[in-house]
Amino acid sequence: MSYRNISKEALVGSLVVGVVFVAGYVLGKKKPFRMSISKSHVGGKDSPLMQYVLNHSLREHPVLKSLRLRTMQDSWNFMMVACEQSQFMANLAKLIKAKKVLEIGVYTGYNTLNMALSLPEDGVVVACDISEEYTNIGKPFWKEAGVEHKIDLRIQPALQTLDELLSSGQAETFDFVFIDADKVNYDNYYEKSLLLLRKGGIIAIDNVLWSGRVLNPSPNDADTVAIDKLNKKLHRDIRVTLSMLTVGDGLTLAIKL
Ligand code: SAM
Ligand code: CA
Repeated sequence: MSYRNISKEALVGSLVVGVVFVAGYVLGKKKPFRMSISKSHVGGKDSPLMQYVLNHSLREHPVLKSLRLRTMQDSWNFMMVACEQSQFMANLAKLIKAKKVLEIGVYTGYNTLNMALSLPEDGVVVACDISEEYTNIGKPFWKEAGVEHKIDLRIQPALQTLDELLSSGQAETFDFVFIDADKVNYDNYYEKSLLLLRKGGIIAIDNVLWSGRVLNPSPNDADTVAIDKLNKKLHRDIRVTLSMLTVGDGLTLAIKL
């Protein structure tokens, strides 16, 4: 059949199909990337998919649950770690057979308790905070769970505690560190934690996405600037292997080489 024999309608139809095909190809190429973002981002606590995740994976010790409910009555409850994130970190600690854990920023000690529950009888969590008020909320629950003997709470600026640990010869003895205190000191906490950590140990750094503010840090926002600066430094840091997870408010895992 010659070109001349093709009807006008057929020609227009073929053109439309061609345009649709090319557009579909171009959009289709971009789609997997967009989809992988929306798939991994299951949404906030109230999203049905997040509820599904919690309903099908959270195994909360009854005393942990009581502490979570008590913490929810506090006006600063938004500071508490996400419970599925805490469970994940406790599993990681178990996986590497952690015995010595450092928690920088305790609040009511939900994660401190989770860690203490997952450590062996001779394990210890060195828990750093400046607030008696917050940590006093957690203490009775640590006792009720029968793990208070594994929690060494130090009420003073965390940098001071880290320096004391280093000067008392505890460099390279910690298995797991969770950094979750004042953001402007994140880099200082990271450097000192790296000294305290054994090879193969894990530093978990919380709030590395800072509710998305890291995308466009304002120079006047010291917290965001500090987090973004550390994120950029970690990306190049050859002393560790790295993962940045979208769990909670963003969690970076750095494993010491
Ligand atoms: N990791 C906790 C959890 O599992 O729920 C949440 C910690 S909360 C986000 C931050 C805590 O850091 C607060 O309890 C605050 O008192 C503490 N903090 C702030 N500045 C500090 C400092 N310089 N040294 C030690 N703790 C500090
Ligand atoms: Ca946090």
